[in-house]
This record gives sequence, structure tokens and C-alpha cells, in this order.
Amino acid sequence: MNLFNVYPLYNITPVSAIDCTITDEKGVEYLDLYSGHGVISIGHTHPEYVAKLKEQLDKIGFYSNAIQNPLQVELAFKLGKITGLDNYSLFLCSSGAEANENALKLASFHNNKSRVISFNNSFHGRTSAAVAVTDNKRITAPINAQQVVAFLPLNNIDLVEIEFIKGDISCVIIEGIQGVGGLDEGTPEFFQDLKKLCAKYKVVLILDEVQSGYGRTGKFFAHQHHNIKPDIISIAKGMGNGFPIGGILISPDFEASYGLLGTTFGGSHLACAAGIAVLDVIENEKLMDNVIQVTDYFMNVIKKVPYVKKIKGKGLMLGIEFDFDVSELRKKLIIEKHIFTGSANNKNLLRILPPLTIKKDDIDTFILALTETLEELKSQTS
Ligand code: PLP
Repeated sequence: MNLFNVYPLYNITPVSAIDCTITDEKGVEYLDLYSGHGVISIGHTHPEYVAKLKEQLDKIGFYSNAIQNPLQVELAFKLGKITGLDNYSLFLCSSGAEANENALKLASFHNNKSRVISFNNSFHGRTSAAVAVTDNKRITAPINAQQVVAFLPLNNIDLVEIEFIKGDISCVIIEGIQGVGGLDEGTPEFFQDLKKLCAKYKVVLILDEVQSGYGRTGKFFAHQHHNIKPDIISIAKGMGNGFPIGGILISPDFEASYGLLGTTFGGSHLACAAGIAVLDVIENEKLMDNVIQVTDYFMNVIKKVPYVKKIKGKGLMLGIEFDFDVSELRKKLIIEKHIFTGSANNKNLLRILPPLTIKKDDIDTFILALTETLEELKSQTS
């Protein structure tokens, strides 16, 4: 059987990885500045994480959600503590799209409405409801072209209110910082006005922190830079450091009832062990402080790099914007300099999304490689 060929692949086969370094089958080492789409939060094969998973696997890996699982309770407790949202509840699932599906569904159950506001260039996943609120023509199948979503520009609160006044909006879904779409984000005023307006019109505010959460911006959630409390927060990527786990944090205004939400795999013993290890390492190693320090350093040294037009994003969720398509630059960084970076819908944006354990030395390595590669590319075109 062949693999269904939907991913253009680089000719690299990683066989092992430690922290921010990936080694391929030929023994070549790569600096990982992308974390597999922002998934590797505490570094590859972190010893505490590996030990916790092995220990759990020896005991019990999975059983049904209809039976008590103290690891879920421990994970929820630790999430409450680190986020400061200890009065919220946690529902566990297995991916970002599934988290958003559940958030949308819960909002709709809550106020019995169905229309959703999402934002231009948003990305919320590829399951049918998640893709319906995603503004990305390339991945939206005709079956998802539902008329239930109003896509609005970011940072225009008046347009939001015009939709709210119609009375049929169930929820607003917004990323803390847009990832796939290219690092655009709401201003603090926009987030604060949105929160007020949602409360006024009884619309549920869903913050998609699947990519921007888990300490990536120097606070646990990106929206915490704006001092707001959403009704529902979706989480996934950094949560399991590669183990599939996602979830939603649900404000105390929502009432649970048996059967309202459900999943087979979500919150398994193994997934929770991974999730607990990640939170312990983030806290014990003060990784959010590291994010702030390394980002400050990055912002300083990137100033010396030629041809950079703009830096977008926050913390270790960054985009370096140029006035040319970066695909060749990115390819050269991987093949010649052995550095993984990321791309976005905006073809001029090079994305930096490293493990939160990254060091200043790694930034130096990147800056040198980037400068050399840019000079080389420019000398070829001039
Ligand atoms: N939401 C955001 C903001 C994302 O960036 C992604 C994935 O890139 C998703 C949701 C979907 O997550 P998953 O691929 O785990 O379904």
C-alpha cells in the first residue's frame, strides 16, 4: 500500500532528536526552529518526559473515559494552577481541530444559536466544523462552504457588532495569534472590546490557543497579554510535546451534563502522563522566562540581518517578513545550513517556532546562517 500523497516531503529522514537538535539517518544534525508546527514545547525526548511516559506505559496506557482516571484530575489541577484559571473545567480530546469542534458545539448547546464569527486568514483545523471556520480556500472543500460563518477582518469591532445585532451569532472564534495565516493578531483594544461585546450580546468567546498557547509567547496563553478571560480556550500542539492530546478549558458559566461531549481516545492515561510531564517541565525549568529572554535577544540580533522588512508575532511564535518569496531561502536553510524553519500562507514570511528550551547560542547559529544565505541569494539575483 502506498501513502496517500498529500504532503510535499523534504528528502530528510530524522531518526533521533534531543532538545532542539534532530539527527537524520546519515548522522547529519539539524537545528529545530520549527518544532513540527509548534508541537515540541519542552524539547525533543526530554528525559523527564520520556521517563514519565515509559513508567506509565508499564502500568496502563489506556482505558475508557467511563472509568475514573486520576491522571486527568491531576492534569486539570496543574493546568488550573499554571494558567490561573482554576475555576475553569477541562475536557480532553486528541487534537486541535477536535478541541475546536467541541468548543463550537459547546457554544451552540449553550445559547442554542448556530452562526459563527471567524476572522480573515484564520486557521482552526481540518475537521468539518473546524474547517468551516477556517479562512483558507486551499483546504476548504465545497461541503464545508457553509453559510453559517461570517469571516471578518481583525481589529474592526464595528463589523463584529453589526453581526451581533442580527441576534443569531453563537460564538466568535479567534486565534491568540494567527499561526498558519501569517502571524497577524488582534490588538489589546480589539480583544478587550470583543470580550465586552460578547458579554453584552451573550455570544461565546472562543480563544483558539492551539498554536499560540502553552507558554509560547512568554505567558501561558497569548490572550493573557491582553488581560481578558475567554469563555472557552482550545489547546493542543505544545500540550503533549508530540503525544496527541488536546482539550478545551471551559469557564464556570457552562454546565456539564452526561453525554454532552465525548471521545474514545481523549485523556488516555498515556496522553495525560505526557501532558503532566510537559507542565512540570515548563514550570520547573521556568521555560516561559526562557522564552522572554531568548526573544529579547532575538529581537536585538535580528536588527543586524539585512533585507528584513518586519518581525511579526510574539515570544517564540515569530515571523520574519521579507519583500520576496522565502521558499528558496527556507529550502537553503534546511539543505545547506541544516536548520528547520516554517512557512505561512504569506509567502514572504519565514516562521520561527522553536522548542521553548532554545538557547541564545542557537539564535546565533541561526542569525549567521540566515545572513550568509540572504547574501548568497542576493548575489545570485544581482
Ligand atoms: N488551531 C490552530 C490555531 C492551529 O494552528 C491548528 C493547526 O495548525 C489547529 C487548530 C488544528 O490542530 P490539529 O492539526 O491538531 O487538528
